[in-house]
Amino acid sequence: MTEPTTTNTGIPVESDDESLTAGAQGPILLHDHYLIEKLAQFNRERVPERIVHAKGSGAYGELVVTNDVSKYTKAKLFQPGVRTESLARFSTVAGEQGSPDTWRDPRGFAVKFYTEDGNYDLVGNNTPVFFIKDPIKFPDFIRSQKRLPGNGLRDHNMQWDFWTLRPETAHQVTWLMGDRGIPKTYRHMNGYGSHTYQWINAAGERFWVKYHFKTDQGIEFLTQAEADRIAGEDADYHRKDLWEAIERGDFPSWTVYVQVMPVAEAESYRFNPFDLTKVWSHKDYPLIEVGKWTLNRNPRNYFVDIEQAAFEPSNVVPGIGFSPDKMLLGRVFAYADAHRYRIGTNYAQLPPNQARAAQVNSYSKEGAMRYHYNEPNVPVYAPNSFGGPHADPEKAADGGIWDFDPTMVRAGYVQHAEDGDFTQAGTLVREVYDDAQRERLVDNIVGHVLGGVREPVLSRVFQYWKNVDADLGKRVEEGVRAGLDSSRG
Ligand code: NDP
Repeated sequence: MTEPTTTNTGIPVESDDESLTAGAQGPILLHDHYLIEKLAQFNRERVPERIVHAKGSGAYGELVVTNDVSKYTKAKLFQPGVRTESLARFSTVAGEQGSPDTWRDPRGFAVKFYTEDGNYDLVGNNTPVFFIKDPIKFPDFIRSQKRLPGNGLRDHNMQWDFWTLRPETAHQVTWLMGDRGIPKTYRHMNGYGSHTYQWINAAGERFWVKYHFKTDQGIEFLTQAEADRIAGEDADYHRKDLWEAIERGDFPSWTVYVQVMPVAEAESYRFNPFDLTKVWSHKDYPLIEVGKWTLNRNPRNYFVDIEQAAFEPSNVVPGIGFSPDKMLLGRVFAYADAHRYRIGTNYAQLPPNQARAAQVNSYSKEGAMRYHYNEPNVPVYAPNSFGGPHADPEKAADGGIWDFDPTMVRAGYVQHAEDGDFTQAGTLVREVYDDAQRERLVDNIVGHVLGGVREPVLSRVFQYWKNVDADLGKRVEEGVRAGLDSSRG
């Protein structure tokens, strides 16, 4: 026997099928409370979708530390042998909730660790770099990748207009148009913290770090043609793959590494180490293994666990801090703000966001949908004389400190010896991609540009790629001109 259907407040209802009417053919009655509750609840089922990274998939798992990196950080989750429960959310960036998983786009790679010192969030991507380096450009950049205001269409001309007017995008666009621009599945891609973070050891020494999550499944990608076909056949291809792999016990894992730069080396490094459009060469800063991160549990409810998951780069725990990376500092504000707007003031109380291994002793109170509260006899203000919690700088995360010139300026990044918008993009094309990869890169760019790019943007596109690599630029121009000629008949 099944339980009786009830209203939201537990009152048994008369019918699952018929509304209350005045006679069999008469009007529906407003006091049919269950009908009204059902329709009103339905109207409110959605929270606003994320402006970016709207389409996502996720799972729970754990990090196990396999190496000793305690000389670099005192963070409890990174001490030898420690096991920490974790939540992941992978996503595309520009598409909406129902958009196909296989569109060419960077993938979000957001990770939450439920540590003894509170939640630590590493909100990265499947690429080690990003399109821009100052958060003031972020709304412009995203708008250019989304939809035109008039007809509501995506527009390649708008995308390339922005990219070519901001040449710092070249490294990320080269990466995006390459094979890794469409991963085969979420399991077959790497994750990168992308930003430069700070690690602080027990003696108070500070290091700059970059995180790398290397897939143990191996990197695999889809060609443009495969991705286009799958987009039509199964828009949820990546979500389904992740879910099914975990359901059958084929748990995906990643080996976690860091690059570590002593603080004293940052100023003279050949690239500005805080510029999000640059990597630190592996040759200069080899990867140091940290541990194994495995996803082994599907969400019980997609909306509760994944749609309501709130990842925020502001969540750093003792032993970890921020850096002068301006994009990171902008995101430290923007993510928590987005969650307050999207899922409400008390989003930290929702199941995926609750601290699990740490006790919450905050003085924050009330607000919409609050249901955790301090004991009634604990004061709601500090300082107090009645045993309320008190801040302890010895135990706190300091967020990371660094030296800087205190003059207020609006300025670009300090240029280091080999900085330049096109340098690392050129290295990627010439030294990392092989002939077949370069061939696909040209095809992908040409196909994308032929999707609606017009003058004056078109000429800038040719120059942009010639700046990355002269031969690549020539081949892109030839390919686009041939495509335009054949479409004119
Ligand atoms: P390395 O030769 O040591 O590293 C090259 C790296 O490129 C590889 O380790 C791999 O990174 C990555 N890679 C391989 N194929 C592709 C691809 N199709 N698309 C994107 N990345 C790929 O040289 P450097 O460290 O000096 O870097 C040279 C260039 O490699 C950089 O300019 C950058 O464009 C790119 N790169 C560098 C990374 C870094 O953190 N140093 C990370 C990723 C790319 P992985 O091992 O992470 O898979």
